[in-house]
Amino acid sequence: MFKALVIEKDDAGYRAGVKQVDDSALPPGEVTVRVEYSTVNYKDGLAITGKSPVVRKFPLNAGIDFAGTVEASDDARYKTGDRVVLNGWGVGETHSGGLAQKARVKADWLVPLPAGLTTRQAMAIGTAGYTAMLCVLALEHHGLTPASGDILVTGANGGVGSVAIAVLAKLGYRVIASTGRPQEADHLKALGAAEVIHRDELASPGKPLAKERWAGVVDSVGSHTLANACAGTRYGGAVAACGLAQGMDFPGSVAPFILRGVTLYGIDSVMAPPARRRAAWDRLARDLDLAKLESITREIALADAVQAGADILAGRIRGRVVVDVNA
Ligand code: NDP
Repeated sequence: MFKALVIEKDDAGYRAGVKQVDDSALPPGEVTVRVEYSTVNYKDGLAITGKSPVVRKFPLNAGIDFAGTVEASDDARYKTGDRVVLNGWGVGETHSGGLAQKARVKADWLVPLPAGLTTRQAMAIGTAGYTAMLCVLALEHHGLTPASGDILVTGANGGVGSVAIAVLAKLGYRVIASTGRPQEADHLKALGAAEVIHRDELASPGKPLAKERWAGVVDSVGSHTLANACAGTRYGGAVAACGLAQGMDFPGSVAPFILRGVTLYGIDSVMAPPARRRAAWDRLARDLDLAKLESITREIALADAVQAGADILAGRIRGRVVVDVNA
């Protein structure tokens, strides 16, 4: 038996709670992992509260990511004692997930924990931080360098935003952080933001083209914010869109794309190919200041993840929440 945050849906309704689960309930997979840490990402909030139909199989252990140690493996690439990290692939949606003391998954889904990162640090990064790095890789792929100009990061106090700021600053970029919590400006500057703007500047319908203010964008907000971020991108610049905290709509115009040659990159972490994941995790181990990571991280016990799921949707969480699944 092991402890898990189980999502159930039946005649009694939709609910999430910590329960004892039998090992026999684990889904098929080549590798069984003793989970040490998981996290509460935005999508975990949607799954735990049932606000969006993220979970599509019941009962299911929640948690779209985890880091831990291999307990048993039928795959030659992994052996008992190896430290691994997992993000996405439908884990925590259709396959029992990481907000549990144990998980069983396909070997293809795992990434070996990069040297230099602990399992706790890996989950302080979590899917949010790994996605932030996928965004940075897209901007680099486009050819942007610190000499290209400023980078706008929206949803700055969130998980994606916070990690993006820390990574970009370490790489030498001048970062403009957009936030609805200007009272956190000093914190964002300590993370590496050079300038902090209020998200209201970007949140309402704007012009098809605005003053060229940034060379690149990491956007975790979507909706009008994404449209305005594109409108304010310099000629030949790039926007990496990964989130929908304001909304899933994209009420923009093609003007930035056809008149300024701006490129919009879509970033998906869930089905990203293994090579890109490993590249992102290796770069996180190298290009993220671990002291800054710790400064945006709060640790909670498994039972507290239910409340944290509601809090992240309400915008009440700053940075990242690590879950010690054994506490
Ligand atoms: P968080 O909740 O930690 O961060 C989101 C941030 O967005 C908030 O902290 C807030 O920042 C800002 N925000 C919240 N509501 C609004 C609003 N109504 N209008 C404008 N800004 C708002 O979530 P994560 O960082 O974990 O995830 C961010 C987004 O990225 C989510 O939509 C998530 O689903 C998506 N995502 C996508 C992935 C992918 O594979 N494409 C993977 C991971 C995440 P502030 O207070 O600073 O304004």
